[in-house]
Amino acid sequence: MEDCIFCQIASGKADAEVVYQDEKVVAFKDINPSAPVHILVIPREHIPSLNELESEHRELIGHMALVMKDLAQQFNISESGYRIVNNCGSDGGQIVYHLHFHLLGGKALGGRLVQNQ
Ligand code: AMP
Ligand code: ZN
Repeated sequence: MEDCIFCQIASGKADAEVVYQDEKVVAFKDINPSAPVHILVIPREHIPSLNELESEHRELIGHMALVMKDLAQQFNISESGYRIVNNCGSDGGQIVYHLHFHLLGGKALGGRLVQNQ
């Protein structure tokens, strides 16, 4: 996917402030942060969105969750708390069609979307 900016970051063809990488995933700072800690975690594989997730990606998604947990610890937001966000599709506000999770923290995050019953 030559024209995908996140594929370019994953392959090192585009610059990003990479904070973690391994054979399956890359994590880098969001270029337009919404919180003091705002990291994007992506698979190296070009999966456009959660809609294209297949059962073969089960292990990958589990791995991404553990990477996010470790990054939260590394960036000292484990105790204070954080939010994981995935925007999927047009109504979800997705802009970059390469699957990614936002890891947000470092301040009290407002805008609660789902109210407690
Ligand atoms: P969304 O697809 O709505 O989850 O948003 C994509 C996110 O990617 C936004 O928060 C952008 O600021 C971020 N973004 C876009 N291009 C880059 C880039 N080259 N490096 C880092 N973050 C980026
Ligand atoms: Zn891509």
